[in-house]
Amino acid sequence: MSDKILIETSARHVHVTKEHLAILFGEGHKLTNKKDLSQPGQFACEEKVTVVGPKNSLKASILGPERPETQVELSLTDARSIGVVAPVRESGDVAGSGACKLVGPCGEVELTEGVIAAKRHIHFAPADAEKFGVEDKQVVSVKVDTDGRSLIFGDVVCRVSPKYALAMHIDTDEANAALASGEIYGEIVK
Ligand SMILES: [Zn+2]
Repeated sequence: MSDKILIETSARHVHVTKEHLAILFGEGHKLTNKKDLSQPGQFACEEKVTVVGPKNSLKASILGPERPETQVELSLTDARSIGVVAPVRESGDVAGSGACKLVGPCGEVELTEGVIAAKRHIHFAPADAEKFGVEDKQVVSVKVDTDGRSLIFGDVVCRVSPKYALAMHIDTDEANAALASGEIYGEIVK
């Protein structure tokens, strides 16, 4: 294994509960796997919803499988454009986060919280964490070399679980800031 970490850009997306999926797409609807993602068991879906804010709206794909809480992950550019608040949070930490409305082909869901800008992070399987010398919840910096916008991302959270595969996740604003496109890799700097 090299000391480089694959960096993947997460486009805006929505995680939904079973209950919200039934409201948005109809009772008994099953998510359609469009593409498996790097994290085992996670997949991008054919299903899209409209995320509605006070100023505007935009379309976002659902990522499966269903989750215990509905969560909308936007870039800060997205959030500003539709007029919603998106605090920078780790996935799952939605208490007191932003509000929006979700609209699907069969119904609407008013979310009083759940809108976040995902805090950049690296997924490590335990063996990878050992190799890189990091622990769960440790915060590191990651250096990215690109053609013209190389930078060091600070405040990168390490997340360790047997359910994970090694990959760093950034959003589209962060990818643009680094001119990161195609297959790019980062290096932890301590
Ligand atoms: Zn991730």
